[in-house]
Amino acid sequence: MKSSLLGLTKDELLNEIKKLDEPSYRVSQLIKWIYQKMVFSFDEMTDLPLILREKLDELYTLSLPKILDIRYSSDKSYKFLLELEDKEKIEMILMPEGNKTTLCISSQVGCPLGCIFCLTGKMGFRRNLSCKEILAQFILAKMNTKRRITNIVFMGMGEPLLNYDNVLKAIEIMTCREGFGLSLRRITISTAGVVPAINRLGKKNNRIPLAVSLNASDNKTRDYLMPINRKYPLDILIETLRKYPIPPRMRITFEYVLIKDINDSPSDAINLAKLIKGIKCKINLIPFNEMPEIKLFKPDDKTIYNFQKLLISKNFTTLIRQSRGKDIKGACGQLAVSLQ
Ligand code: SF4
Repeated sequence: MKSSLLGLTKDELLNEIKKLDEPSYRVSQLIKWIYQKMVFSFDEMTDLPLILREKLDELYTLSLPKILDIRYSSDKSYKFLLELEDKEKIEMILMPEGNKTTLCISSQVGCPLGCIFCLTGKMGFRRNLSCKEILAQFILAKMNTKRRITNIVFMGMGEPLLNYDNVLKAIEIMTCREGFGLSLRRITISTAGVVPAINRLGKKNNRIPLAVSLNASDNKTRDYLMPINRKYPLDILIETLRKYPIPPRMRITFEYVLIKDINDSPSDAINLAKLIKGIKCKINLIPFNEMPEIKLFKPDDKTIYNFQKLLISKNFTTLIRQSRGKDIKGACGQLAVSLQ
């Protein structure tokens, strides 16, 4: 079976090129064709000798997942349904907004964490995505938009820190200067709170912006909303984040899905402020996206604004984030291919 050249770092590509007894500058040529010109047929790589192109074609593939469907939202975001080689399916969302275009990508097929407000969680866990499959989402999105993709968020299907190595390797390739050259600052990893992996990220990759999906300020509520809290309860998670080496001019983003009568009271806001006091952070409030499959509801606007006002009064930068792509089931918590 042919192996894929997509999803290989520069050093790994160099190893493959060496195996073929080719000079190392071929790596730069390959990177240029694949990641800058986005050419996925060796035959079209015209500055490579014909014999090398034939050899590459015999041994390697540059195949991408199939786009099964693209759905366009009235808010101009669009959702892609992709089919992987083993026929598993994943989704990703492209969200243009002013000069910014954000791609929300998946890191797993399904998710093992089962947060009760999330349809992906209801799918259960199928498998981790490979580095190639993560990278391919970015490539396919680039091929299907005239806009420059400025930001990437790992907030699609799955918990990225449970697929740590593949996610980090994909980020290494996305930010490789000779390749896509994306800035690390523009890639956000969002986690439900996988404490050991947060520690690992802090030691090695603390320059990647980190978002933590918090959603509650007490263990009882968080246990109910996010079963991972039973493994890594709030005190351990917050202690970990207090010690997290946040670089200058960066801060942690706390995401808080506001759910009617569950976590939206003034005392929830005050407890939240107490809980995260002293952490360099900002808070994104995300009003719950109602969906028939989940019996939870969005708070009314007054409750949402009061919650925000209370946090602002405690000196937290607090934004209300309206989810994009609700009408195409592309909003936060709505990605789940098998439930459509
Ligand atoms: S919210 Fe994130 S971590 Fe929780 S089930 Fe959904 S995809 Fe998994």
